[in-house]
Amino acid sequence: MNTPCPSCGSQMWIDELLTASSLTNPCFGLCCLSGKINLPIPQSPPQELLDLITNHDPTNALSIQFHTNIRAYNSLFAFASVRANYDPQLASGRDGVSTYHINGTLYRCLGPLRATDPAQASFSQIYFCDENEQTTRRQTMFTGLDENIIQMIQTWITQHNLFARTLRTASEAYANQTVGTI
Ligand SMILES: [Zn+2]
Repeated sequence: MNTPCPSCGSQMWIDELLTASSLTNPCFGLCCLSGKINLPIPQSPPQELLDLITNHDPTNALSIQFHTNIRAYNSLFAFASVRANYDPQLASGRDGVSTYHINGTLYRCLGPLRATDPAQASFSQIYFCDENEQTTRRQTMFTGLDENIIQMIQTWITQHNLFARTLRTASEAYANQTVGTI
């Protein structure tokens, strides 16, 4: 992959060039449709979170804690559960690389928007709770996670994630009403 797309700069295989172009003046469609698609650059995470993600300092206890439990932190902030008929043998990684192999359809499952008991809220239901309830619920979902890291991620998602903000707005709008299953 040593040929940059002249439109977006993606590194491409030369054999991926559009048939309407040439080896001396290659154009590519897989990346940006020859410049027709121009996505905004994603917003950078806050420096604290970026440091946690990119800093693998073995002497930094917080960094070790985050990387050891990164899947748990990710699960805390998922909006939906995933259901699929997958092969647990391949996914275990016992016989080589862990491979997520599914058969059939992959589902994203959502329950009612509001949990009957905030202490039992899960996935998007957590975003429907107020800030303090969210923190409390997330701290009880897994053991051994750092409260400050949970709080930092929650604050950032609350401020910048469109889905989280939408759920908070809906929660405030329907505060005194029964909200059913979607
Ligand atoms: Zn391109």
